[in-house]
Amino acid sequence: MTFNTSTRRSERLPAWLRRKIPLATESSRIEGAVRRRDLHTICREGLCPNRAECYAKGKGTFMMLGDVCTRGCRFCSVTKGAPEAPDRAEPEKIADASSELGLSHVIVTSVTRDDLSDGGASWFAAVIGELHALDPAPVVEVLVPDFGGDLKALDTVLDAEPDIFSHNMETVRRLYPEIRKGADYDRSLLLLSEAKKRKKEVLTKSSFMLGLGETTKEIFEALGDLIYAGVDFAALGQYLQPGLDQALVDRYLSPEEFSEIGNRGRAMGFLEVTAGPLVRSSYQENRMGVRRKDGRTMPAG
Ligand code: SF4
Repeated sequence: MTFNTSTRRSERLPAWLRRKIPLATESSRIEGAVRRRDLHTICREGLCPNRAECYAKGKGTFMMLGDVCTRGCRFCSVTKGAPEAPDRAEPEKIADASSELGLSHVIVTSVTRDDLSDGGASWFAAVIGELHALDPAPVVEVLVPDFGGDLKALDTVLDAEPDIFSHNMETVRRLYPEIRKGADYDRSLLLLSEAKKRKKEVLTKSSFMLGLGETTKEIFEALGDLIYAGVDFAALGQYLQPGLDQALVDRYLSPEEFSEIGNRGRAMGFLEVTAGPLVRSSYQENRMGVRRKDGRTMPAG
């Protein structure tokens, strides 16, 4: 499939994707805490349609290591280019903001930093440590880049003991060269399978955006690859074009199609599959009743 930006169809969003963004004071509370500390959230940088809802539930996903990425994924609105030197105080600031906001489940992700020798792994280890030191300790989920396939960087993150280790496959194997420049399908799978092999107790997770041109057969082949890699949770949502420079939507899957994919995915053996038009890798992350470091289990919901 080729993306010819000028000629592809642009359609009004289907009804199930249109949503009112409620004016939530919560947005300003979370964004205030983030801005005061010079932090970033993928919610804001990625123009996520769910952010008002997540904010209202006291959830947010912090984006570390700046807001400039060394990669150029065609679906992503994050700025590409030469990043600045990372802020060594960022892990502590994220824990501080999480504590102020009373977050019970903290997700930390980052842009890809191919310019750093460990791809930023030591920052992930530091932020996990800072969050585990909070009382009460939140569930800590890290959504990591592929670290260029560096398994020593993977160990650095795993040794810090995150509760959930996430790495997104984003799309199916055939679309990688076009959609995920600089990434490698098998390398991403290896990161997930090695994470499970090296730390059996860590929960692993991955997610896909659908509507980029993949076939239904390819979706289930990709889910099969995740099962083979020992992945516990999968999330599948509708790709939405964040800006004119990004890839066009090939099609909008109906809620019924997502529900069917979810049912078949669960039957494949995942602990949980979350599938729906507005599902994002960190949306509704608490459906799973994840156990915190202090042994208490997060209520599903
Ligand atoms: S790696 Fe791709 S998806 Fe992630 S921030 Fe960079 S461009 Fe966006």
